[in-house]
Order: sequence, then structure tokens, then C-alpha cells
Amino acid sequence: MNFHQKQTWANYDPAGFIDQKLSAVRALIPPEVKTILDAGCGNGAITNALQDDYDIVGLDFSEAALQHVTAPKIRGSITQLPFEDAQFQLCMCHEVLEHLKPAEQDQAIGELKRCSSKYIMISVPYKENLRQHFAKCANCGCEFHVYGHLQSYDQHKLNALLGPEYRPLKTQIMGPPQKRNPDWIIAFKQTHLGQWFHPDFYLTCPCCKAGSFIHKSNLLTKLTNALSRIISSSKPYWLLVLYQKR
Ligand SMILES: [Zn+2]
Repeated sequence: MNFHQKQTWANYDPAGFIDQKLSAVRALIPPEVKTILDAGCGNGAITNALQDDYDIVGLDFSEAALQHVTAPKIRGSITQLPFEDAQFQLCMCHEVLEHLKPAEQDQAIGELKRCSSKYIMISVPYKENLRQHFAKCANCGCEFHVYGHLQSYDQHKLNALLGPEYRPLKTQIMGPPQKRNPDWIIAFKQTHLGQWFHPDFYLTCPCCKAGSFIHKSNLLTKLTNALSRIISSSKPYWLLVLYQKR
């Protein structure tokens, strides 16, 4: 997924997931909060909806994404926020951290802490099995996560990242249910059956920029899919946590 491409943002949330996220986010904002930074706001699905009720600024590194943001906005990186210390009562960051490398992620959290006077709100995919969303390029063989996710989280990992000076006030595991296939089924499907995640959205290979991906479909893959539906568990999509500075 290329965040600098217009196509990415024109059809970013076809399942309407963001609406579910938005009502949970609204409900978690403490009543005293007036100023908010939405760091990594993407196309502004959350920022735009909150702009009538809060003094909110959206920040994103993608010019293509920011074109959809109608609230006050600024182009920049979450690893180097162009704001003063403690400029916002709440710094929020939704579906961003999982895209970052560990060093960038630490920088981003340091910046959210620096720019927040009291609260930080973070959401990430909950206990995502990253391999489940891997595609394999038919041209160069590159294996990659179709949404560019590099990390998976649970509440313990996220709390540890925030560190002891922030306490989790409210933790929610919420959102549309997701099938979680066992690791061995995913490995078997990918390695032995050639059945990789098949994107139904615009995607190019991050290694060679080709646009076709390996996806075999035959009787064996159909049987394996039926089996994996039976033995897979289901879990909510997101982990959403409101932190308060101690
Ligand atoms: Zn490739």
C-alpha cells in the first residue's frame, strides 16, 4: 500500500470500519479536552468528524491523504512533530504505529509524549498475525504485508512502549471481528499451496513495483480454506487505549 498515491485514499475504507472506530474514539475523549493533535491522520476520517467539537489539527506525511482533510492540517512526520512541547491536551494516533520500524516507533511515541500535556490515545490492530496479510509478488517473489504493517501488538506491548510515566486509563478491544488463522495453516497455504493474500485494492510490489501477485485457487486450496474457517478463532480488530500522564 502506497500512502503517497491518490488511489490509496480515494477508497481507503470500503468496509466502513472507520465509523465504528470514530464512535469509540469520541466516547474516550475526556470531557476537559479541547485541543487535539491527530498524528498520522490519513484522509482525515477522524480529524474531519471531530473538527466542529474540538480545536483539532491533523498531521500526515502524505500530501495525497491531506487533500481529503478539511480540518486544520499540516504535512509532517510523526517522528519529528512540528509543534511545541505540551501544545495539545490530547495527542492521538490511530493505525500508524504498526507501519513503523522499531526505532521510528520509539521516536513517534517520544514525540506524542512531548507534544501532549496530559493524554495520549493510541489504536493499533489487536494481536494481528502479520503473515496472514502477506502477498507474494508474481514478478520478483518479494513477500510483504499488503497494508505495510511491520508490527503486531497486544495491550502489554503497547503499555510497555508508553512506559511507566503513562497509565492506561481505558483499554478497549473493539471493532469488527477478524478471523485469526493458526500459524501452521497460514504457512501451509502460502508455502505449499501458493495461496497468498490476494488484495482487492490497488497495490504494487514494494520491491519491484509490479502489480500482479501469486494466488492459486484449486480444489486443495478450497478444502484448506474450508478447514481453516472451521478451526479459526475470531477476535475484534482493534486495540484502543487512552493513556494519562502520571
Ligand atoms: Zn516484486
